[in-house]
Amino acid sequence: MPGSPDAIALAASDPDRSWLDALFLGPYGENDALLERLIVEFLRDHVYWRRNFHPEDPPAIPTHAARQPGYQAFEARLRRELHQLSASLKRSVPFHSPRYIGHMASDLLLPGLAAQILTLPYNPNNVSEDAAPVTIDLEVKAGLQLARMLGYPDDTSRPDCAFGHLTSGGTVANYQALRLALALKAFPVALLAAGVPDIDLPADDWSAFNLGPDAGIELLERANAWLAAQPPRERRRWVRAVQAQRIEHLGLVAFFARHAGLKVPKVLAPITAHYSWSKGLKLLGLGRDQLELLPERGMRLDPHALEDTLARCQLERQPVLMTVAVLGTTEYGTIDPVDAVVDARDRWTTRGLGFSVHVDGAWGGYLATLFRNEDGSLRTIDEVGEGFARFPLPEVHAAFTALGRTDSVTVDPHKLGYLPYGAGAFVCRDHRAVALLAEAADYVFHDTRADDYSARYRRLGQFVPEGSKSGAAAAAVYVTHKVLPLDHAHFGRLPRQTVLAAESFHAGSDRLAAALEGVARVAVPFAPDSNLVCLAINPAGNRDLGVANAFVRQLHDELRADPRQPLQVKQFFGSMTTLRPEAVGDVEMARILASIGIDPATLDPDANDSDRLVILRHTLMNPYLVDHANGISYIELYLEHLGHRIRDRLAAAQAA
Ligand SMILES: *Cc1c(COP(=O)(O)O)cnc(C)c1O
Repeated sequence: MPGSPDAIALAASDPDRSWLDALFLGPYGENDALLERLIVEFLRDHVYWRRNFHPEDPPAIPTHAARQPGYQAFEARLRRELHQLSASLKRSVPFHSPRYIGHMASDLLLPGLAAQILTLPYNPNNVSEDAAPVTIDLEVKAGLQLARMLGYPDDTSRPDCAFGHLTSGGTVANYQALRLALALKAFPVALLAAGVPDIDLPADDWSAFNLGPDAGIELLERANAWLAAQPPRERRRWVRAVQAQRIEHLGLVAFFARHAGLKVPKVLAPITAHYSWSKGLKLLGLGRDQLELLPERGMRLDPHALEDTLARCQLERQPVLMTVAVLGTTEYGTIDPVDAVVDARDRWTTRGLGFSVHVDGAWGGYLATLFRNEDGSLRTIDEVGEGFARFPLPEVHAAFTALGRTDSVTVDPHKLGYLPYGAGAFVCRDHRAVALLAEAADYVFHDTRADDYSARYRRLGQFVPEGSKSGAAAAAVYVTHKVLPLDHAHFGRLPRQTVLAAESFHAGSDRLAAALEGVARVAVPFAPDSNLVCLAINPAGNRDLGVANAFVRQLHDELRADPRQPLQVKQFFGSMTTLRPEAVGDVEMARILASIGIDPATLDPDANDSDRLVILRHTLMNPYLVDHANGISYIELYLEHLGHRIRDRLAAAQAA
């Protein structure tokens, strides 16, 4: 029976879910014995390793130390503090529970958790191979695993192989994207200023600055080949001359003062972009003012607006550093038209306005596994859509299949990769530009033809924004991708669950809306692209936006984490966001307001809370939202709970 709770529960299922049973510690800690065995086994293994280094060295800590009063006093203090920490952590947010559908957090994958705990006592530092002979290779390989998932070349014997590395999170990965794009954009200008001969330089500053990433890399290759052919003294002289002209050396002020015909470039991003983009522009010194936010159409970056903006930039001789497309917006989970953005890049590059395309897939990056076969090839829309009600929309399929044509991508293993925090990733399609980020000139100028890919990136600290960095996090990401390869048949089964859960939630919301007729208007404001579902709610008869917003804020107050209350008081956790006409467009806004009976005239751009619509937001990433063994759908339970809360609140308001 389509539409009935049973059919929904079934739709959200997988015929064989036993594969899921060993992946996480579990909502009830069901796999505690497995995790405990793994931790003890590999802790012992680590201890043997210590002992076997130089077994002839006697124990430095005397065997009877544990019986001394000082030792015991220390242990007592240690235990007291740990118990206190453990007790206070009980007020943490229960991300592991299927009753948690708030922010982008969930349970942790056991392979990653175990690999990380296993690696911690070795304490590798992935800044360079001297401090991390093992895990630095794992980080480079994890980058290649992600590259393959995205459709970038991952064969390191290819000169244009991709490169990826981990960061503390998506924020720093986005910053790395800006840094790399700027280095590549400004480098041809430096070559021109230094007057390097015989390498077919662009005619002037404007064309040098706007070559676009592919032509920029080709020029870098020509420069490297030419330099490699010079006698050592000459070579050193030219390297110094070019370095002295680079934007990284001069700084923005001196660089743009020298090149008066060039303006500071802009970054174009959809209005839904994460605030890390604003942070990144400030950090790089380009300034927040260079971030130009593009409007959306139908909850996606509007390609026509992008086209108009690029045309205006061309006319005003305003360079563009990069256009950002978001793969899974933080607030709505929506997918930008990556395909249209790369098409625009290719078109405008031939018109002399080159720029990079970066995809911010901090949230949605791992959804790409759904679109890949085990051999790395792309899946057709029908193949991907099997078993789903409507996923993927043609726009969504087109966006994912275009990933391989972008210049770089951010993916967060600590979001939809279900790994502990401290794991974001930056991946670029062609690794050769990364040399420009190196601190030492030896790495910037080198003969790539004679270069060994993995040897090069064993000095990771040369190229990444951070210095010392966790090798244990790299081990966690690598091992997870080995246990669950990044294709639809393995890792993809996880995001598949999340999309099924979203479809089930969507259908359940429609039933809730019917059940609440005459009590409140409930609507899914826009069909979910992936695994985030929002709900707009308005008490029946109310036409005023401010009243509806106040009502939804009250509902959300009950759904948010409150450290002053015992956890168990909460039935469910959800989150909240808002829809603004500037972000979604006037047409879309009017449609959404009408769907819950609000008079668009009560939308007031100058009012404090009536300039936007407050909606509930649900992140459906917990893999146990539908419990088949016990026949429970937490999605159904949540929607039922929400229905009760709406009725109770309205009844209480009426009685008052
Ligand atoms: C979460 C997120 C970020 C920031 O990532 P952090 O890991 O929190 O630094 C950037 N962009 C998008 C789209 C995100 O969802």
